[in-house]
Amino acid sequence: MAKLTAFARGIAGTVFRPGDPKYEKRREVYAAKFAAHPALIVQPANIQDIQTSLNFANSNHLPLAIRCGGHSYAGYSTCEGGLVLDMSSFRSMTIAADKSRVRLGGGMLCGAVEIETAKAGLATVLGQCPSVGVGGFLLGGGVGPLMSKYGLGCDNILGAELVLADGHQVKANEDENPDLYWAIRGGGGNFGIVTAFDVTLHPVSNVFAGIITLESADPRTFLRAFRDFLPTAPDELTLIALMSAEPKHKPQIDIQVCYVGESAEGEKALAPLRHHSAVVHDTVKSRPYLELEQMVPADIPPSYDEHCSGFFREFDDTRIEVLADAFLSAPCRVDCFLIHLHGAVTRVPVAATAFPLRRDGIGCDVAAYWKPPDGQQAASRWIEALKTKLPVDEDGNYVNVMEREGENGVRRAYGANYMRLQHIKARYDPHNLFSLNQNIRPAG
Ligand SMILES: Cc1cc2nc3c(=O)[nH]c(=O)nc-3n(C[C@H](O)[C@H](O)[C@H](O)COP(=O)(O)OP(=O)(O)OC[C@H]3O[C@@H](n4cnc5c(N)ncnc54)[C@H](O)[C@@H]3O)c2cc1C
Repeated sequence: MAKLTAFARGIAGTVFRPGDPKYEKRREVYAAKFAAHPALIVQPANIQDIQTSLNFANSNHLPLAIRCGGHSYAGYSTCEGGLVLDMSSFRSMTIAADKSRVRLGGGMLCGAVEIETAKAGLATVLGQCPSVGVGGFLLGGGVGPLMSKYGLGCDNILGAELVLADGHQVKANEDENPDLYWAIRGGGGNFGIVTAFDVTLHPVSNVFAGIITLESADPRTFLRAFRDFLPTAPDELTLIALMSAEPKHKPQIDIQVCYVGESAEGEKALAPLRHHSAVVHDTVKSRPYLELEQMVPADIPPSYDEHCSGFFREFDDTRIEVLADAFLSAPCRVDCFLIHLHGAVTRVPVAATAFPLRRDGIGCDVAAYWKPPDGQQAASRWIEALKTKLPVDEDGNYVNVMEREGENGVRRAYGANYMRLQHIKARYDPHNLFSLNQNIRPAG
């Protein structure tokens, strides 16, 4: 106790401890089932606070969790009895004079970045939820409506500044620590605390975009419509579909489309999908990109859910059957993101960055939502049954949508890149101080 008090006194930023008036609010994370009681939540004001916190966690053998937006599905941005390093004071952002890049503090949230870049007619590749942190988003990969044209969020990282496990400050870019630069583009929070990212900006103002909703008593109808359309999608077009179902409601799919280019070309590209007989709603039009990004509310409350995820190169009839059958027998509200990976995302060679999914295909992320005290069992049973039936590719998964799947799950997710990641981990974090994440075990 005296140690904690002395540590807190040495921090220039803010420290929240159990019993403090703001502690209960500060310990909340998106994944409500993992909400824990950290001994300390530290909001560092500067690099020295980060170094002091790493040293304290290390020398007292405290679990250490890093938080940016707090949206980890696996609840890795909190820990029981440990130290949470909450990066929310690192929220500065500077657009370069030539507008080619922006420097983002390691605690920025995506929504705030998009508002500021939009004022300059610019955007970088971010996701669909304003309260997701750039930290987790960029480090794990980063899928969003601009990716098929401009690459993943991580493909747009030009460089970063980090504090390593031993307290050293380093830069990672093409010229300085290129191995670390390779690893942070997809390798998650395994290598150090990122205090700043430099990312590429693109001239984006209006896009041809919106949501196309298809409804049917049988989800096979709209899943096939979605699948059959995908091969025709040009690089300018990103599609992220959300299929949802709940007992006593007709299943539906909301396909978020974003065409970055001339509206007339977008109209042409989307026509086959928009004219499908199952379409019940269509909001696609020319609109400011920011408007599309703000369709998801900024304030997403903590949620109780169970997840499974995977990648399929072929969205074949077997997978459609399995998903459709599962969604027709869902015991609770369920949904499934189907993320179309193609274009600029899959033209990057798999060995060029740590991010493993560089083949055309679908990233799939299924969630079953429940309410305490007793909804978890049914949701979990449904997810487990789906996992046994849904054939996902053996290697490759998107770590940002994985739950806690252990060493084998992480190894499978990174596939061919895992071994190289292990060697880089051994160099920068040999004792695995940064272990609360989709963890890469240090080599040796
Ligand atoms: C509602 C919702 C919407 C989402 N939408 C999208 C989407 O559109 N596209 C997409 O790709 N993903 C999306 N995701 C998934 C999201 O990318 C991941 O959950 C991501 O990890 C969240 O980042 P965060 O900073 O908010 O989370 P946190 O829980 O704060 O961080 C997650 C992990 O990232 C690491 N980390 C974060 N910041 C730093 C830092 N500064 N330095 C070092 N390590 C750090 C840590 O290991 C931490 O455990 C969504 C998730 C939710 C819950």
